[in-house]
This record gives sequence, structure tokens and C-alpha cells, in this order.
Amino acid sequence: MKYRRALQKVLVTVVVMFVAITAIFHFQRYHELRQTSLSQISQQALNYLEYTDREYQRALNEFRSMATLIANSKPLYDYAQTKTEYHEQALTEQWQTLLSNQQSYYKLAFIDAQGQETLCVFPPHSKFAHQTRAQSQPEFFAYAQTLSDHQIGYWENRPWTSDDHNGVKELDIKLIYPLTIEAQREGYLVLDLNMESLSQRVNYSPDLLLRADLLDQNGGYLIKGGHGVERVHTSNIGKRLHAATNIADVQPKTWQKMQEFEDGFVKEHGVLTVFKTLNLIEATPLHLAISLSPDELTGLAQEAIEALNRETGLAILLGLLFIVPTTFMLMYYRRNSIDSHLARAALSGMSAVMIIDRYCKTVLVNPEFTRLTGLSSAYVESKNVLKGLLGERKAELFKQIFADVREHDIWEDEVTLYQGESEITTIMRVQSSFDSKGKLSYYIVSFVDISERKVLEEKLRVLSEKDPMSDLWNRRKFEQELRRSALLAQLADSNKPTCLALIDIDHFKRINDELGHDEGDRIISRVSYVMSSVVRHSDFLARIGGEEFAVIMPNTSIADANMALNRIREQVEIDTQASVTVSVGFTQLTPDYTRSYKCADIALYESKTIGRNQVSLCLDCEDIA
Ligand code: GH3
Ligand code: MG
Ligand code: MG
Repeated sequence: MKYRRALQKVLVTVVVMFVAITAIFHFQRYHELRQTSLSQISQQALNYLEYTDREYQRALNEFRSMATLIANSKPLYDYAQTKTEYHEQALTEQWQTLLSNQQSYYKLAFIDAQGQETLCVFPPHSKFAHQTRAQSQPEFFAYAQTLSDHQIGYWENRPWTSDDHNGVKELDIKLIYPLTIEAQREGYLVLDLNMESLSQRVNYSPDLLLRADLLDQNGGYLIKGGHGVERVHTSNIGKRLHAATNIADVQPKTWQKMQEFEDGFVKEHGVLTVFKTLNLIEATPLHLAISLSPDELTGLAQEAIEALNRETGLAILLGLLFIVPTTFMLMYYRRNSIDSHLARAALSGMSAVMIIDRYCKTVLVNPEFTRLTGLSSAYVESKNVLKGLLGERKAELFKQIFADVREHDIWEDEVTLYQGESEITTIMRVQSSFDSKGKLSYYIVSFVDISERKVLEEKLRVLSEKDPMSDLWNRRKFEQELRRSALLAQLADSNKPTCLALIDIDHFKRINDELGHDEGDRIISRVSYVMSSVVRHSDFLARIGGEEFAVIMPNTSIADANMALNRIREQVEIDTQASVTVSVGFTQLTPDYTRSYKCADIALYESKTIGRNQVSLCLDCEDIA
């Protein structure tokens, strides 16, 4: 479970990092692409403006040739000299023929020497055809008069007189050709150019986005190439424009650049404007511009961006195809490596370990096992050494161990191992180990040596039963032994009774008083020593109070007990280091050990009474009452 969670974490981290890196890369590439696409578009637009400029110039040259041609035609000469109806008719017909094939003129007109427009011909179906002849503007006529013979003049209407509904100013450009016959200025031929039609002619681009706008010297739109005004209106600049659209209001930075440089491109508020100055009319520079909104720029770069998206998608897919199996492999390797680390750590640890197969044949043991049992790893290999180690209990133990392991996968208990002469007390643990398919593959058997602990426990136990001053058994142990002996006495042969004796040092208070408490202690120790060297090996001697002792004598008759107790009494009496006497009272131990104890106590009392340093017997229970 833990492993799976760790795997999930690693997988998620790796995938997130990979996707993040790919996203950063994608983002950078996207920007590069946008930048490249921007300069490509700018260059393309500039090329196109260059072409448009040339087209305008070419058209203008055409107009000039046209003007020269018309100006030198006979019908015009005739009309200029004598304005008969016939001449007017002939000229009108000639002009109408000319205009029928030309979309580039609003009209052709003749202005007499007084500034009066005397003839005006519109192309067929012209919306202006209804206009009547009129007196030309004084400024215009004044300008025309300044022209020398054969000099073609240009005139544009200034100030602008009308705006169309889109806010695009009407550009009115006239070509003026002075007509002088025999040194006499007879009038002027005026060609009104249809700039919109001209612009449509020259402004040809297969891409609608790249059609140029034409702007006047103040930044006002004269002609919109494809969609200029609308585009400016709806661009995300956030300014709703008035009908009189002017680039100077909407994109001041762009307009400034357009005035400063002949051509170039500017990005302002996300809108890219590529521009070029158009010198169509002397002293009045016009401007060609192509503006592209952010959406349009994205649209133009769309193909490359889509290719990039496909590329990134593919990279992510390939990356994931690589990462997922690799992560699984790495995790598998890591787990195996962790497992082997753990196994090594366990094998080189404190406890003795042996790995055995299903048939209890040894597969592997660690150095601690060899140290504990003395069996080398080469010796135990492929052998069933466990049975030998378990000694006599092996059959019964084996059954119990493997039954438990089958049920609980583990078994543990205190076990004594037998190896040669030595016995080793251990905590033995048997665990089953399964392969990945859940099939039992090995048993792991470990032993923790607790022999030293056992010895220590034994020492503690003995200490708790011994009297430290006399090194004899203490009262607690005496009571245990008394109960046990009483039980055994019940079962034992009546010819072999057990005797119980109580021994008390005489006049000990006096010794304490005269020689001091420390000397009293020394005498107690000495008496203990003397008595323990006199009693038989099978006798049980205990110190049951300050200077009181008890002896349990198994398999001892009253007479033998009397003898043995007197020997004790005598040995104490003659011991110069003790220089005290003891009084003894004894009885035969019966299953009612409390009663027996009282009997012995009565006997002791009797010894005290009759002069001390005596051995007395009390057998009769009636005495107690
Ligand atoms: P009796 O002959 O009647 O036994 O006289 P006694 O003075 O020995 O009297 P009793 O047995 O009643 O008193 C025992 C005294 O032994 C009481 C106490 O002061 C002393 N005693 C008990 N235990 C110790 C001990 O561990 N060390 C020493 N120095 N004195 C002890
Ligand atoms: Mg006493
Ligand atoms: Mg005493």
C-alpha cells in the first residue's frame, strides 16, 4: 500500500514536471513564432506597400499621358477656339468614348479662360452625371493660371469639403492641362481622378488583410484598402471612434513614426501598422498603411501555431509513453534494492538468522548464527540442521512450529538449542516468506541468545531466597520449603520421617547490650557458619528471624535428629569465635506444618526453661493445647 502511494507520488511529480517543462518550452517557442511571424508579416506588408506605391506612380504617369493626348486632340482645339454646338458635340462624343473604357476618372471638363466650366463629361452611368457646369473655385482657377504652357498641374481639393458616411474623406485630385493656341490661353483641360477606382486598381492583393489604407498628411483616412476604418473601430484599443477617423487620435505613437520615417512598422496597443509614404502629389505626402489587429496577427500565425501545438502534443504523448514505464521500472528497482538492503541489514544484525526452504534445508545463514551455534555456513548448506539443534524435543517442536506458521505465518517461543556439550537458551522465531505469487518460498528462522539473561535471572532468584548476613536461606524460602516438605512427608514412608527444629541463641540481648550491635551481627554470622558446616547436605538450614534458625531434616528419625541437633548445639558451644550457646526444640514434621512449627517452638521454649544450651523434643500435639 505504502509502495503504491509512493509510486503514485513519484509518477505524479515526474508527469507534472515534464508537462511543466514542455509547457515552458511551448510558451517560449510560441513567443518566438509570434515574433518571427510578426517580422515576416511586416516584411510582406512592406513589400506590398512598395508595390502599391509603384502602382500609384504608374497610374499617375498614365493620367499624364492621357492628359497630354486629350489636350492635343483636334476636337478640343476646335472647341476651345469656337464653342459651336457642333464642336461641343464632337468633343463630348470623343470624351465619352474615352471615358467608357476608363474607370479612373470622375469626369473630364473644360474651363475657359475666364474660369467658367463650359463642358463637363462624366463616364456612362456615373452617379455624378446630373451635376451641372459650375464656376470653378477661385483658388483652383488662380492656381491653373499660374501654369505655363504644356505644364501639367495637380490639384487636390483643400480644405476637404465633404466626408463620406464612413468617415473617409473624399479625395479629389485634378490634373490640369493649360490649353494655349497661337500664344493665346484658351482655357484648361481638367481631368478629375476617381481615386477610389484607382485605389481598387492598384490596391490588389490576394490577401484582404494586406490591402493598404491611404491616409492624408494629417492622418485622416482617404481610402480604406480592405476594411481599414472598420478594423480601427473594432480593434481592442478601447476607443470608440468618431465618424471622422484619424489615426493620429487612435494610434498617436504610430502616427508619429509615420511622419518621421519613410517606411517601417509599429506595434501599438497590440495593433501592427506597416506604413510607407506615398509621394503622389508634389508637396503633399500621403501615407499608405496596413494595420493588423491582435486577432488578425494570431490568425496569420495560426498555421505555424497549430503546427507547434501538434508538435507539443506529440512531445507530451511520447514523453508520457516513456516516463510511465520508466518510473515503474525505477520504482521496481528501488523496491528490490530496498528489499536487498533490508535483507542484508537483517542478516548482518544482532540476531542469528537462518533461511531454510520448504523442506527445512538451509539456504543461508548469517555470521551471528555461526558464532552462536559453531556451525559454519559451508557446513549447514542444504542440510536440515534445525532438527539437530532442537535436541530431543525436535519431533514434537517441529510439529507445533510448522502448524503455527501455516496458520499465523509466524511462531515464537523460548527454545534451548543443543550443540555439542553446550545448551543455549534462545528466543526462536520462525516466519514464512512468500514469493510475488503468494506461494511459500522460504522460512526465516531467527534466534536471540538469552542464556546470559537466564543466568542473571537465576542469580536474582537465589538472591531473593537467601539471607545476606548469614548466607543461609531466608524466612520466605523456609516457608516454601516447609510447605513442600510437609507435602512430601505425607507421601513418604513413615519409617523415614522429616524432622523440624527451631534454634535460638541464648541471652542474645545481653550480648548486644554488652558488646554492641555490630558484634552481635558478627556472632549471628559465625553461629550460622558453624551450624551450616555441621548439618548434613540434605538438611535445609534457614535463618528465620534475628537470632533464630530452623532446620528441616528429611529422611531423619527422631533419634538421628536428636543426635544431629546436639552435634550442632555442641559445635556452637565449643566455638571460641562465637562464644555463645544455642537452645533447640524439635518435632516430627506432619502435613499440618503450622501445628508442627508450634510443637517445635514449644520444645524450644522448654529448652530455654530448663536451663538453655539444650535440645528438647515435642511430639505430642496435646501439649500444644
Ligand atoms: P533467650 O535466651 O531467652 O533467647 O534470651 P534473648 O536475650 O536471646 O531473648 P530474645 O531471643 O527474646 O531476644 C533476641 C534479641 O536479639 C532481641 C534483639 O535485640 C536481638 N537481635 C535480634 N535480631 C538481631 C540481629 O540481627 N542482630 C543483632 N545484633 N541483634 C539482634
Ligand atoms: Mg529469640
Ligand atoms: Mg535468644
